[in-house]
Amino acid sequence: MKITFPYMGSPIVYYKIFELLGHDVIEPPRPSQHTIQLGVKYSPEFACFPYKVILGSYIEALELGADTIVTAGGNGPCRAGFYNEVHRRTLQSLGYNANIIVFDSAFEDPRLFWHNIQMLKGNNSWAKVARVVYTVYRLAQAIDDLQKMVEIKRAYELKRGSFTKVLDQITQRCYKEVKTLQDVKQLHREGLTMLQAIPLKEIPESQKIRIGIVGEIFVVMESSINMNIAEVMGDLGCEVSRSMCISTWVDHNLPRFLGKSNKAILKASKQYMEIPIGGHEIENVGGIIDYKKKGYDGIIHLMPFACLPELVTQSIVPQISRDHKIPVLTLALDEQSGIANNLTRIEAFVELLRTKKIQMTV
Ligand code: SF4
Repeated sequence: MKITFPYMGSPIVYYKIFELLGHDVIEPPRPSQHTIQLGVKYSPEFACFPYKVILGSYIEALELGADTIVTAGGNGPCRAGFYNEVHRRTLQSLGYNANIIVFDSAFEDPRLFWHNIQMLKGNNSWAKVARVVYTVYRLAQAIDDLQKMVEIKRAYELKRGSFTKVLDQITQRCYKEVKTLQDVKQLHREGLTMLQAIPLKEIPESQKIRIGIVGEIFVVMESSINMNIAEVMGDLGCEVSRSMCISTWVDHNLPRFLGKSNKAILKASKQYMEIPIGGHEIENVGGIIDYKKKGYDGIIHLMPFACLPELVTQSIVPQISRDHKIPVLTLALDEQSGIANNLTRIEAFVELLRTKKIQMTV
């Protein structure tokens, strides 16, 4: 079995879980223009942008020799629930006979869930499976922790690119060196020390700009299709916090008694969204309000083209922005996105926030 997976956010996390269970793993290449072109070519025109990018990624990984795709299912009123079946049929029609293992909720189809677990377990003992899952969960937390630090401090780096360089080095070492929980802890410690040693500019607290990024999970987490927005904001001198990262996604998908759901965020969204509409809309709406409460200066809302939940959120955003007095910039992303156009809008947004801040402190 040569396993591949959807490329989203921190692929090392998915890579490691399969590798440590003893499988051959083929990581899809980081999504590129070629990936997007492949996805767009073979997807229904009205499919949402993440669907197309993931299809392109699967094709690239299958071309590299993968024969099994392991992915998560989707539930709720959005298209994610149909992704896998449509991907399967499209890949078949293109002549790829990939086995697709889909992890849906264990409560929906316990037998299928169990069958999937057994396939990935292979000849490993249950004790080893538990150890690997826990190690990789802690790896996800460690990577997120380092990434969060980078996304805050990058705004003040003296030499452009210093934080990104260290984060890339640590991630590459994780690929090679992580075998046990001790390795994760060691690399996490080393990463923190290296990041803390990077020289910073002195900026008065009153001039710091903090931006929260919310939106559809795939475009928030995957830098290759969100114009590398966290880095762009850092280069413009803004601290960034993303509402979604790999460990929050894992927590979100664990049963309530295991996962850490953020009750404050869920409660804050109630006024605007009474029922779930798919995607992570409740978290997004609550997240905007939560960022405001934490003193953030503005929000960037990322929505993939043809995403139904984000279209609904987009229609509520002006009201939330007025009620909570927080500026929100919505950016729609798809294969046609003009990067220069979006960058101009981002720069204008940051200038607006900076001017507002200066006026408030005068
Ligand atoms: S949330 Fe939007 S982009 Fe994501 S799968 Fe659902 S419809 Fe597609």
